[in-house]
Amino acid sequence: MSIVRFNAVRESLSRENFVINEKGSRSKKFGNHVFNEERMLQFLTKDALATVKDAIFSGAKIDRKIADQVAEGIKSWAITMGATHYTHWFQPLTGTTAEKHDAFFDVLSDGRALEKFGGGQLVQQEPDASSFPSGGIRNTFEARGYTAWDPTSAAFIYDKTLCIPTIFVSYTGEALDNKAPLLRALSAVDEAATAVAKYFDKNVTKVNATLGWEQEYFVIDKSLAYSRPDIVLTGRTLVGHHAAKGQQLDDHYFGVIPSRVLNFMKELEVECIKLGIPVKTRHNEVAPNQFELAPVFEEANLAVDHNLLLMDVMDKIADKHNLKVLFHEKPFAHINGSGKHNNWSLATDTGTNLLSPGSTPMKNLQFLTFFINTIKAVDTYEELLRSSIASASNDHRLGANEAPPAIFSIFIGTQLSSVLDELEGVSKGKLSPEEKTELKLNVVGKIPEILLDNTDRNRTSPFAFTGNKFEMRGVGSKTNCSKPMTVLNTIVAKQLIDFKKEVDELIDDKNLKKDEAVFNILREYIKTSKRIRFDGDGYSKEWEKEAKKRKLSNNKTTPEALKVLTSKQSLDLFKSMNVMSEVEVSARQEIELESYIMHVQIEGRVFNELVYSHIVPAALAYQNKLLKTVLGLKEIYGNNYKSMAAAQLTILEQIAEHINEIKTKTDTMTQARRDANNLKDLSKKAFAYCDSVKPFFDEIRYHSDKLEQLIENELWPLTKYRELLFTK
Ligand code: ADP
Ligand code: MG
Repeated sequence: MSIVRFNAVRESLSRENFVINEKGSRSKKFGNHVFNEERMLQFLTKDALATVKDAIFSGAKIDRKIADQVAEGIKSWAITMGATHYTHWFQPLTGTTAEKHDAFFDVLSDGRALEKFGGGQLVQQEPDASSFPSGGIRNTFEARGYTAWDPTSAAFIYDKTLCIPTIFVSYTGEALDNKAPLLRALSAVDEAATAVAKYFDKNVTKVNATLGWEQEYFVIDKSLAYSRPDIVLTGRTLVGHHAAKGQQLDDHYFGVIPSRVLNFMKELEVECIKLGIPVKTRHNEVAPNQFELAPVFEEANLAVDHNLLLMDVMDKIADKHNLKVLFHEKPFAHINGSGKHNNWSLATDTGTNLLSPGSTPMKNLQFLTFFINTIKAVDTYEELLRSSIASASNDHRLGANEAPPAIFSIFIGTQLSSVLDELEGVSKGKLSPEEKTELKLNVVGKIPEILLDNTDRNRTSPFAFTGNKFEMRGVGSKTNCSKPMTVLNTIVAKQLIDFKKEVDELIDDKNLKKDEAVFNILREYIKTSKRIRFDGDGYSKEWEKEAKKRKLSNNKTTPEALKVLTSKQSLDLFKSMNVMSEVEVSARQEIELESYIMHVQIEGRVFNELVYSHIVPAALAYQNKLLKTVLGLKEIYGNNYKSMAAAQLTILEQIAEHINEIKTKTDTMTQARRDANNLKDLSKKAFAYCDSVKPFFDEIRYHSDKLEQLIENELWPLTKYRELLFTK
């Protein structure tokens, strides 16, 4: 009998509910653990406050003297909050966050002790960077890495540690993290969008990209999770026959949240609120034991930090409730996987959402400008945007006939489509007074009204306009949002710069009025970016064919998707927008490829353990049990035993066949892995893992799942889907 599985099931059923009784209003707790403006007013000198605000708004540098003052203020606050340590909190290219804690506590040469924290420690730290992926950057430059304070994301206290959000760069200035390129992209889009927004409102001096992510995840009992070697080591189940019931009854979606999970959510939310993460929505998702959490949107850099912090906090709080959160994009076969929709827009410092239609024709022209430029940007760089969400785990969703396809397209709905159709008919050059009036009254003027009824939504679209924002849906549940946000904001920045140049040329050289020039350029963009617009079923075979005709990329796997990163178009883009140098882009491509290889390699190794140490021994044990029965029958009934043991003999043969198959497949897969490991070229190695190793996984799984069905329940060692997904 499988001790681990049954102990885990027993434990999971005897859990006591950890009841959380929340006291006090959330608005009073919001941001209490954050060094926000309120705390700054209280703890910073006037000069320090002014400098930090300037740094946040315009990126101005903070000199050492002021940094000392800021550090003093932050320290005083942190100590009143009971913090004992501080850390630079950063996002190395591993995809998660990293931290090294140092105590405030220090001993002076005369033996006295005190709490110390100066400007130096606030602004810069040198974690030993040698064990973080650098994609060759460090070898090339013999450089160490250092972290540097990002004043645009406020310091916070978590678990008695003051966390200072930082970027992580090499001494020669190359970004070794995901935050530095994001900050550069956000600054590029700020500059480009501000210049264009000034056409419509001279008072705009800053544009922030906004991000509202929606985090999907699974929660299962901790003991059940740890009973499965595949979940522990890969985050997903590599084998497992589906339970008789899955999500077909739609009885989980938006249903009553199970009370154990609800208590976990309550505690999690209170923790988030204290950390300034504005969590707002919680609900059951489609698959059993799948849930979603969404906050109010924020400035993109802050939103990215908050999502990363959230994933950390979720892990910790879940553990307290004896639960385990699965962030993997596809932890279970046969039911939905998890994503992280990225809702994105641009907001001015005058309080306007640039993707929200307004009350006047001029405001709507502004809306159309940003709306159409975004469409054009995605059309030009669709393949690059796809590459930003590529990973071994997300491959199980994209291109696998589940929540958005790997083909990028944009859904804008029928009403906005007809607005664009009308704009396509705008005359070339100067517009007649009649045409202008017609545009104002009947096309541009009508947008807010039509959007109000524009309720049609297309869940299969990877990039959908949803009323006042675009929603990028292919982002994986585990993905660091800074990757897609870096690409999206960079391509929109580039597009807006090109747009402004073209409009200004028409104004200066062709003597067109500003609105005429804008209409003229938008008309051309509508014409040239048509192929990216698609309102139909993104999962259908017909769309795949049609997309091919339109020359849209359809990169179903990570090694394919990553190729475009180092294309001339991509390198030129990142360089011209000052987001990443060629060295930085190549390093990221290398790191992503390596990560892909390692993930598939680990899964391959886990298969070996599962097959040889768990599945085959269980099958043999049951075979032996059956053999004993058959031999017993033969002993007692002589030649008559055959008809009496017919069922047993059939099962015995089936088991034997699956054992043989699973062994052969596993051994061939192992050899394929060895062959792949011998390849020196990273891209070739990644393709070998993708095309020659990974396909065996499904085949091995097939035989394992057949064995699971044949073998006596008591003997099956791996916790079953029914137990993992339906224990509440
Ligand atoms: P759903 O997509 O689940 O139907 P909504 O469309 O209401 O839900 O909103 C989804 C998310 O969009 C929310 O998390 C919200 O914060 C975010 N959001 C709303 N407006 C914006 C915006 N202007 N910029 C970025 N995100 C936004
Ligand atoms: Mg959504």
